[in-house]
Amino acid sequence: MIDCIFCKIVNGKIPAEIVFENDHVMAFRDIQPQAREHFLFIHKAHQADLVEMVHENPEGVLQIMKAIGEFSKKTKMKENGFRVVTNIGRSAGQSVFHTHFHVLSDNHLGRFGK
Ligand code: AMP
Ligand code: ZN
Repeated sequence: MIDCIFCKIVNGKIPAEIVFENDHVMAFRDIQPQAREHFLFIHKAHQADLVEMVHENPEGVLQIMKAIGEFSKKTKMKENGFRVVTNIGRSAGQSVFHTHFHVLSDNHLGRFGK
């Protein structure tokens, strides 16, 4: 999609600190990290949000989850613990409308919502 910032990262039109890539999935560091380690995992094919994606590319959701799992084992993340979050809709804080999963890891994340 022409005006999508994450599609531009996929196409190499804007730079990002890429940490993982395969045929379907890409991951890069969030420019405004909310934890010591903060990555964004996306599918290379554009879908606006998770709800749209589970209808139109359910296999893609699994491909992203597998990539997160693989990455977590290659790094210390699996050992240290991490959190996966996706915001759906503006009121939930979604600001980029290309489905992405925030992957956050830190020494102590605290219990979500507590
Ligand atoms: P959300 O608010 O859930 O849609 O998440 C969008 C995330 O994308 C935010 O955490 C931003 O900091 C991040 N972000 C926006 N532009 C870029 C970029 N060019 N490179 C890396 N992360 C970005
Ligand atoms: Zn896109």
